[in-house]
Amino acid sequence: MKFGTRIIHTGHEIDPTTGALSVPIYQTSTFAQESVDHFGKYDYARSGNPTREALEETIAQLEGGSRGFAFASGMAAISSALLLFSPGDHLVVCEDVYGGTFRVLTRLFSRLGIESTFVDATDLGAIEAAFRPNTKGLFLETPSNPLLKITDLAGAARLARARGALTLVDNTFMTPYLQRPLELGCDIVLHSGTKFLNGHSDVICGFAVTRDEELCTQLAFIQNGFGAVLGPQDSWLVLRGLKTLKVRMEESQRSAVAVAEWLAAQTRVPEVFYPGLASHPGAGVHARQAGGPGAVLSFKLESVALTRRLLEGSTLAAFAVSLGGVESIISYPAKMSHAAMPPEERAARGVTDTLVRLSVGLEDADDLIAELDSLING
Ligand SMILES: *Cc1c(COP(=O)(O)O)cnc(C)c1O
Repeated sequence: MKFGTRIIHTGHEIDPTTGALSVPIYQTSTFAQESVDHFGKYDYARSGNPTREALEETIAQLEGGSRGFAFASGMAAISSALLLFSPGDHLVVCEDVYGGTFRVLTRLFSRLGIESTFVDATDLGAIEAAFRPNTKGLFLETPSNPLLKITDLAGAARLARARGALTLVDNTFMTPYLQRPLELGCDIVLHSGTKFLNGHSDVICGFAVTRDEELCTQLAFIQNGFGAVLGPQDSWLVLRGLKTLKVRMEESQRSAVAVAEWLAAQTRVPEVFYPGLASHPGAGVHARQAGGPGAVLSFKLESVALTRRLLEGSTLAAFAVSLGGVESIISYPAKMSHAAMPPEERAARGVTDTLVRLSVGLEDADDLIAELDSLING
């Protein structure tokens, strides 16, 4: 069955006990056991909760994995997956990785003896050159944040596999509707479910998904041991949000294409970064590995003054951190997602003071463009 059908008919669409068309919220921390010798499937809700499990099975199925794990945030999912590595291990990481991931790698995991090298992952040669004998992982984001750079996932995963390293992909921007890294040979998919998966700007959550049995066992051990699990209320909200993932992504993407094309024609907008534009250097690779360019784009304005006017004057797009909601969100990477990155690092990565990121929501594209026009050209 196709994605649109599978997202509704997940295997959890009817509660077997009551026939309810919504997964019950098991708001419990523990489960009574019948006998000393035989414990039931559930014993303590950190280890397993039926509401969370329905969500975990759903995300696993959508990503083409065998198991999914729900965490209290995207960073909890990413940090938990990074606990697969040990002191002395080395990671190769795409250079415009999410700011929070950069922060845990350079300030937390580095202290634990896990070293990272940041590379331009649009270049498979650069990835290959960064491998060392102790490289155990390759961490990618494509399209990357905030410059929407594209990495050839199948090519990169092949390089890593040949060297015995795992490939981890943060698939937040695409969601499994548009891109499924496990099907391209990657080992672990990570998400900030806070963004498009939940989609309504009302939950913080994260996911890890894999299809490898050994990795499933290890991630289950880490999830239970480290304990950064998602609660049942939030799990239920994400299950509800997920039901409309396809229609939200389709509509937001259609508007994002219109906005990107309009921006690209404006003289006060010297650069637009969006893999849906033919001029994007990664457009070809992206089209081969993903079902569409998504709903996030970024662009540079001609001056800092104009950048400020746009950010502070925008009413349809909220000036805020985050993305992937039903409402458009305009953000300022230099002071928001990449504030954790030292200014020199940020400048070297092209995250300038005139760069703006726009996550296109479900407003009418004509209205979004009219407001951008009045703020940029008015
Ligand atoms: C938001 C985000 C994260 C972090 O997720 P949280 O849910 O905020 O912890 C990680 N990666 C990407 C690409 C993100 O956009």
